[in-house]
Amino acid sequence: MEKILNYINGQLVEPTSGKYLENVNPAIGSVYGSLPDSDSGDVQKAVQSAQAAYPLWSTMPLSKRASVLLAIADLIDRDADLLALAESVDQGKPLKLARTVDIPRASANMRFYATASMHMSSESHVMEGEAINYTTRTPIGVAGCISPWNLPLYLFTWKIAPALAAGCTVVAKPSELTPMTAFLFSKLCIEAGLPAGVLNIVHGLGNKVGQAIVAHPNVSAISFTGGTVTGKTIAATAAPMFKKLSLELGGKNPNIIFADCDFEQAVTTSINSSFSNQGEICLCGSRILVERSLYEKFVNEFVNRTKELIVGDPLEENTRLGALVSELHMNKVLSYIELAKQEGGQILCGGKRITVSGRCAKGYFVAPTVIVGLDQYCRTNQEEIFGPVVTIMPFDSEDEVIGYANSNAYGLSATIWTENLKRAHRVAHQIKSGIIWINCWLLRDLRTPFGGMKQSGVGREGGWEALTFFTESKNVCVKL
Ligand code: NAD
Repeated sequence: MEKILNYINGQLVEPTSGKYLENVNPAIGSVYGSLPDSDSGDVQKAVQSAQAAYPLWSTMPLSKRASVLLAIADLIDRDADLLALAESVDQGKPLKLARTVDIPRASANMRFYATASMHMSSESHVMEGEAINYTTRTPIGVAGCISPWNLPLYLFTWKIAPALAAGCTVVAKPSELTPMTAFLFSKLCIEAGLPAGVLNIVHGLGNKVGQAIVAHPNVSAISFTGGTVTGKTIAATAAPMFKKLSLELGGKNPNIIFADCDFEQAVTTSINSSFSNQGEICLCGSRILVERSLYEKFVNEFVNRTKELIVGDPLEENTRLGALVSELHMNKVLSYIELAKQEGGQILCGGKRITVSGRCAKGYFVAPTVIVGLDQYCRTNQEEIFGPVVTIMPFDSEDEVIGYANSNAYGLSATIWTENLKRAHRVAHQIKSGIIWINCWLLRDLRTPFGGMKQSGVGREGGWEALTFFTESKNVCVKL
């Protein structure tokens, strides 16, 4: 049994209450460890230690701060195999995916922000003959970083790296469903010599630990990634306290396929954008919209290739889809498939739980599912399912598909497939989403702004946006 501990003031410690939650391996459907069931008392200790560490960390020369963060990145690379295995066991994702995507991205996040902080500059504005204004940017104080379960270490580091690089000290909470790699990360921080209290990781439930971080008066900024409903609760707590908020929330992303697309690329990438990480990526294109003249050909090819995807033991090399993160989440996904049937949808493949033979017989596996025949405005097409389920609908014109794409409360990302670049730009500009991919998907340059419109969030991560989020600007006006 693997026992996870909190990381507070540079030490790995038990929760004050002495209570623990069960940590489940979703591929085998059983408990394999425990994590602290922390409460506001633990958060209080973490905030105090972050406050105590702040004067040292926030004034440390940039190059020295960067060198500690770079050392952590190197240790992630050194332990990449171990971390990938831990991520796969904790989350259910294929080991191969954790090895090639999650863990390399975690060290890339650390490196990107460690070095970015050394290139940050601020502005000055000259009022001819009268005055000079210069603007300083200082770290905002203690930052709260709360992350979800789908890309555990990847998204955890995506928040804490810019916060630490900007000079903030941090109280962080990974998801209670996938706490393992954040725990292993805390050990790497100790080994790398991160000063005590600079990063504190408090494990436990969202409505206890997460809420206590958001409500703490000495936490100045909250960076949150998770569901839209949780985001609303966080905003309701933080807004009256005038905290700075970055909210990366849910998505129901359109994947638009025009008849003049590169068919092979569009189908191959759409399989990935539908089912990577079991469809548990906020950027997955769960609504596929296909121009009518290509519709039948696309659906046939897409369904044939979906049927070939191997669902199974995440540790096997050829597995494409592993287990869903929990029994509760699997049941939620299955309930949406039932809803789709009630709404008149036709299941072309999948549509049910899968029993995998051997050690994974009790795991939470769902077959990749393709549904057609649904109205654009039904709940299946409006609500985030966050699993291996996609719908395919035909469209007749550019205007019509733009309307469909925007018919949703979410606005995170969209994908457009066409060889007509004029049209690609035209459509991209009219879609109300924060991220548009043309003839590709999930091609990420960490310098670009990342985030959604409408109910997909507030603010942007990535590049300078995340670094400046964790700072406060001040203008100084000097009369000449
Ligand atoms: P969630 O909202 O249930 O939980 C996210 C985190 O918030 C967890 O650590 C949880 O413990 C914590 N939390 C829960 N209640 C809280 C509260 N009241 N106060 C403070 N913290 C609280 O989300 P999830 O189920 O872990 O993740 C799935 C969701 O995340 C999906 O909606 C997905 O689209 C979204 N997501 C968005 C992005 C993005 O970048 N926009 C990326 C990944 C996932």
